[in-house]
Amino acid sequence: MHCSVGANLQAGVERSRRLRAIRQDLARHVDTTGDPDLFQLLTQFMCGYCDIDLRDTFGLGHGRLIARHGGAQTRQRWIPRLLAGELAGIAVTEPHGGSRPAETQTCAVAGPDGTWKVTGRKSWISRLTEAAVFVLFFRTPDGGLAAAAVDATQPGLHRQPIPPTGLAGWTWGVLDLDEVKIRQEDVLHGDGMLLLREHFAGYRPLVTATALGGAAAVFDAVTARLSARQAAGDLHRLRDSALITLGRTHVQLATALLGAVTASYLAEGGHPAAELWGAATKAHGIDTANSATAELALLLGASGFRADCRTAKTRRDLGGLLYADGIHDSLYRTAGKQHTATKDSAGDVTAVPAPRDRPASVAMTA
Ligand SMILES: Cc1cc2nc3c(=O)[nH]c(=O)nc-3n(C[C@H](O)[C@H](O)[C@H](O)COP(=O)(O)OP(=O)(O)OC[C@H]3O[C@@H](n4cnc5c(N)ncnc54)[C@H](O)[C@@H]3O)c2cc1C
Repeated sequence: MHCSVGANLQAGVERSRRLRAIRQDLARHVDTTGDPDLFQLLTQFMCGYCDIDLRDTFGLGHGRLIARHGGAQTRQRWIPRLLAGELAGIAVTEPHGGSRPAETQTCAVAGPDGTWKVTGRKSWISRLTEAAVFVLFFRTPDGGLAAAAVDATQPGLHRQPIPPTGLAGWTWGVLDLDEVKIRQEDVLHGDGMLLLREHFAGYRPLVTATALGGAAAVFDAVTARLSARQAAGDLHRLRDSALITLGRTHVQLATALLGAVTASYLAEGGHPAAELWGAATKAHGIDTANSATAELALLLGASGFRADCRTAKTRRDLGGLLYADGIHDSLYRTAGKQHTATKDSAGDVTAVPAPRDRPASVAMTA
């Protein structure tokens, strides 16, 4: 790896360029498309351990929606590029609130030659300027929710980057669509809401693992510093309160990771409880990562408050993950709703798409 993205390298063009270079380098050396999801999940954990900004330097990411639900032409067009290191973005959230995708207002009208023209505003979009393709969610002319693979160079796409507090490795902000042309072959197969639910059942465990990797690095930094201070004679003995914090946070992080592993396993098998597990373990895993790092950071003293301290950056990034890929109260609510579903209504609540083949048999290239 020739690029470094240390915590002291400010967010901006150079950091984004280096992250892309790392992604392209990894794409050349590692091919995980035939591996079980567990492998991807643990790789994400390691990426997060190095830096949470590496969250999308590996794998298809949101491009999985194209791999699973795109037609042959669309897959042929995008999957080889994504496997070679280009990036996919996802555009779901709108100004009225990302926790209510059923109320999507971005909509298509029929254009010439069977094409559609899509107009609307998407907010808080990651990889705003880096993505080669966006998986865009919008209303079809007949009012249904659909998703399409939209080339990021299409005329009619306008971007307004917004500087975030954390997760600043990739650009982030508003994506406006002004009569963006969509051909029928760009449209992914299936109902948009079901695609969204199925995708996030598998994607959220990866996000959770990335966050827990970041928290595990904080844990290691704190234990290394305490051990070094003790070895140097600065601390005569480690206080019980510090030891209790270490013992508790370690098991919290490990069990949260096991939860994400379970969620990933259920999603891979198309289990009816996959959505519930993906949502609840994402909310719980990221809450755990946030609370554990807040507690651990105190053990670093003021040195952990320096702007260039990795721990401080990790905590800012973990703050962003409370919202990105599903805001927490909504995720817990999704889980709660499924727990309280009566037998009669359970079919509606857990109606994630039917079990699918294992990824090894899904054509990742067209
Ligand atoms: C770093 C980052 C990266 C992101 N990347 C992307 C991306 O790439 N693509 C994308 O599409 N989105 C992205 N998002 C957006 C993210 O998915 C949304 O922030 C999330 O879905 C929540 O939506 P919202 O922020 O609009 O909040 P809202 O949906 O407005 O929710 C805010 C609060 O209002 C509450 N609320 C909602 N309805 C009610 C009600 N009826 N009564 C009372 N309270 C209510 C919610 O429960 C919540 O607590 C990103 C966000 C962040 C922070």
